[in-house]
Amino acid sequence: MIPAAFEYLRPRSLEEAVACLLQREPGTAAILAGGMSLIPAMKLRLARPATLVDIVRLRGLAGIVRSAEHLRIGALTTHAALGGAPELARYPVFAETAGVVADPQIRHRGTLGGSLAYAHPAADWPAVFLALQGEAQLFGPQGRRSVPAEDFFTGIFETTIGAGEILTEIRFPSVRERSGAAYSRMCLQASGMALVGVAAQIMLDAEGRIDHASIGVTGVNAVPFRARSLEMRLRGVLPAAAALRDLCATGIPEAEPLSDPHAAADYRLQMLRIHAERALGRAFERARAAVPGLGYSAPVTRDGEPVVRP
Ligand SMILES: Cc1cc2nc3c(=O)[nH]c(=O)nc-3n(C[C@H](O)[C@H](O)[C@H](O)COP(=O)(O)OP(=O)(O)OC[C@H]3O[C@@H](n4cnc5c(N)ncnc54)[C@H](O)[C@@H]3O)c2cc1C
Repeated sequence: MIPAAFEYLRPRSLEEAVACLLQREPGTAAILAGGMSLIPAMKLRLARPATLVDIVRLRGLAGIVRSAEHLRIGALTTHAALGGAPELARYPVFAETAGVVADPQIRHRGTLGGSLAYAHPAADWPAVFLALQGEAQLFGPQGRRSVPAEDFFTGIFETTIGAGEILTEIRFPSVRERSGAAYSRMCLQASGMALVGVAAQIMLDAEGRIDHASIGVTGVNAVPFRARSLEMRLRGVLPAAAALRDLCATGIPEAEPLSDPHAAADYRLQMLRIHAERALGRAFERARAAVPGLGYSAPVTRDGEPVVRP
């Protein structure tokens, strides 16, 4: 449980951090953020970086900024900060997700950027990143570039972050009217990581039908993904409980579930349907609650079906 020897660097700027990475042999230097994934991996000798480039004290990489167009979250913003930020009051999905990540100690050191960059196939934030249609902002030798969530994850523990690049910020479109998002997961009791995690965002039209849905899934495939076909089928639907249940039961063809000692592929598929239904139901409740004048006066839809309750 003792890491192999390594060189430790603490640059004072992003440019210096990039230079530190580029001056080392390719693949031998690693960014150190909260250290909550990297350090355990080093202790187990699953990772053996020769150099650690500690960015945790770099200014401007932590914090949450809201503007008319965007919600911008610095890569070094911790899980705990996301759980209690007043700027995120209109985005309850962040507190909901932060609340299930690991334990308080890890939540106070681990970062959103570290979680996305690590690309653990069972991490929680990738589902939210996808469902909220985030964009990763990268800084590197060629300057800045932006990568949409769907292009970010390229494999197990692999992302599009290139040599010498640093994830600086995660940007989301600002919350729209009549919209809501939620995260639902089943976790492994031993590790606390997601066996299946689904984040859903719903936008309603003026009649309360689904105008747009986006669904991010983690823990099921080797790489987190958008459930595009279910999203399409949800368009125009009045999101009553029975309708959501039926739609989720028709399947999510993008799922190519892993089978491992924790769960067989079939079991993951079943859990995926259940958690998709739960996340969509809660997202709908939140979208509806955001618009008191939407026209719902009773807890049944115009089809007489009961409305989903959390
Ligand atoms: C016991 C335990 C339980 C956990 N439970 C959960 C859980 O339930 N759900 C969950 O989602 N996660 C869980 N985690 C993981 C935790 O969320 C980590 O905090 C997170 O995955 C990594 O964030 P970090 O800031 O600590 O990154 P680090 O460990 O510092 O880095 C992780 C990787 O990302 C790279 N990296 C970090 N930041 C950047 C950046 N800005 N730019 C480029 N590369 C970067 C590093 O080089 C490294 O390869 C758990 C971890 C532990 C140890």
